[in-house]
Amino acid sequence: MTTIRIGNGYDIHQLSPNRPLILGGVEIPHSLGLLGHSDADALTHAIMDAMLGALSLGDIGHYFPPTDPQWAGADSLVLLAKVNQLIQKQGWQVGNIDSVVVAERPKLKPHISTMRDRLAAVLGLAPNQVGIKATTNEKLGPVGREEGIAVYAVALLVSSSEL
Ligand code: MG
Repeated sequence: MTTIRIGNGYDIHQLSPNRPLILGGVEIPHSLGLLGHSDADALTHAIMDAMLGALSLGDIGHYFPPTDPQWAGADSLVLLAKVNQLIQKQGWQVGNIDSVVVAERPKLKPHISTMRDRLAAVLGLAPNQVGIKATTNEKLGPVGREEGIAVYAVALLVSSSEL
């Protein structure tokens, strides 16, 4: 009987003036922000896709379509709570999450512990179950040219009956 499942998620959003930069539910002071239908929180989006992917439940575009005005400017942490409810209903819990945020600027390190706390609180986890790493793209490609921020995430789900 399968008692653990793994999923991966990826997201990228364009950087644009006059937008807030929100990652992991934390607003980070910067001259540019992420463009998107919701709050464009690419970290939270990649994590949701990893959680859904672990159960082959599709992707966030299926549950929160960018064409639906209901999700305009949505707080991605609210969407994350919904995805967590969905996996719990199916009998699963997050075991742990790991993620990498690829951004040339700004420096994310001072904000990582707040992001982990915030995501962990929404998911009912301890902060040490939510890994967030930040790296640059060494000035290579669109992320290196500061045209966008990309995020990779994996989520391990554990069957609730195992806990
Ligand atoms: Mg997204």
